[in-house]
Amino acid sequence: MKSVIVVGAGIWGSSLALRLAETGWRVTLVEQHRPGHVRQASAGETRLLRCAHGTDDWYARRAWEARDGWRRLGERAGEELYLEAGMLWFARTPDGWEHASAQVLKGLDIECRQLDPDDGARFFPDFSGDGLSFLLWEPNAGVIRARRATQVTAGLAAYAGVRLVRARALPVPGESAVLVDGEVHRADRVVWACGAWLPQLFDGLPITVSKQDTLHFAVPLAWSVPETPAWVDYDASAYGHGDVDGVGMKATSDAEGRPYEPEHGSRAVDADSVERAASYLGRRFPALAQAPVLFSQVCQYALTPDAEWLLAETAPGVWLLGGDSGHGFKHAPALAGYVAGVLDGEHAPDERFGLRERVPTRGLRTSGQVG
Ligand SMILES: Cc1cc2nc3c(=O)[nH]c(=O)nc-3n(C[C@H](O)[C@H](O)[C@H](O)COP(=O)(O)OP(=O)(O)OC[C@H]3O[C@@H](n4cnc5c(N)ncnc54)[C@H](O)[C@@H]3O)c2cc1C
Repeated sequence: MKSVIVVGAGIWGSSLALRLAETGWRVTLVEQHRPGHVRQASAGETRLLRCAHGTDDWYARRAWEARDGWRRLGERAGEELYLEAGMLWFARTPDGWEHASAQVLKGLDIECRQLDPDDGARFFPDFSGDGLSFLLWEPNAGVIRARRATQVTAGLAAYAGVRLVRARALPVPGESAVLVDGEVHRADRVVWACGAWLPQLFDGLPITVSKQDTLHFAVPLAWSVPETPAWVDYDASAYGHGDVDGVGMKATSDAEGRPYEPEHGSRAVDADSVERAASYLGRRFPALAQAPVLFSQVCQYALTPDAEWLLAETAPGVWLLGGDSGHGFKHAPALAGYVAGVLDGEHAPDERFGLRERVPTRGLRTSGQVG
């Protein structure tokens, strides 16, 4: 039986561990805290699932595939992990990112519709289409209960036979092995799925870590998912969704925050993040101009210069999986299948994920502008 040690029980490591255990691997999953612990990126209350990715179709296809994965996971767990509320993209120009996304989605037969800014009033109790050229409606997008989905995935992995070890693992240079509590553990493959901790374990990676503040605002019941959909203003780097589970309406910025250390960095949100989110909320949804913050969370992005992920073999059997760049939760079930195919030798990883020179570009997640 082939063996693998996966380090990191965020959604990427847990999904991979589950997938490998269910396809005949002997799997050990090492996590320094607990699956779903609040420092990990996967422990956000919610994460958005969308297929639109500008001109890119790789991530669009995988997101579509992952949508099925989330629905199946929910069925297995007997709870709704994916809320298909749909998503409205707020397009500021007729021929920008949203237009490119629509062309790709149409080519992939993924439903989307172009709407007039005034149509926003059909989706939100109160809406201002000021400055918008059109709306792009993606009906099969939605919101994942992320923290819960991570815990469920890790739980199913344990049920499938994965040995979950609570410890901090260290690399053994050049070997398909990990060091845990002074002891070396070997396996046919080791996958380091360590999120924002990855650059602390391996030198020279094209990954920087930024602090990201997430805000949820107290809103009347009418602003709840699924009646109120998810929304993204790509050019303003702003996004959110209606209330899920009474945590409040999410409205937050996707712009890169300041450099951050995920283990010891402060988990208090900054005053200017609150101000920015509240100001966007009030402009786009005037009835919510005075909505108070109900809940906030600090998370971190593990950013590569081009927002493409990292999947690379650095020594025989040793794989680094990271650099999710703030847009990797939604893909996890599909990514697990893809990475399993790489570990099984069915296909090589796409060059885009390699340890190559990365040219700074934007587009997979946000324009980088703040508006
Ligand atoms: C504010 C915010 C909003 C986001 N919004 C979206 C969204 O809407 N849609 C979307 O698709 N994605 C989104 N993302 C990105 C998404 O959350 C991440 O892509 C995803 O959670 C990455 O999962 P991961 O498993 O790689 O990392 P993590 O969840 O961070 O897990 C890494 C794990 O590795 C463990 N670990 C690290 N080092 C060691 C070690 N040496 N030994 C043992 N364990 C170790 C850590 O404890 C941690 O549990 C967002 C991210 C943030 C921060």
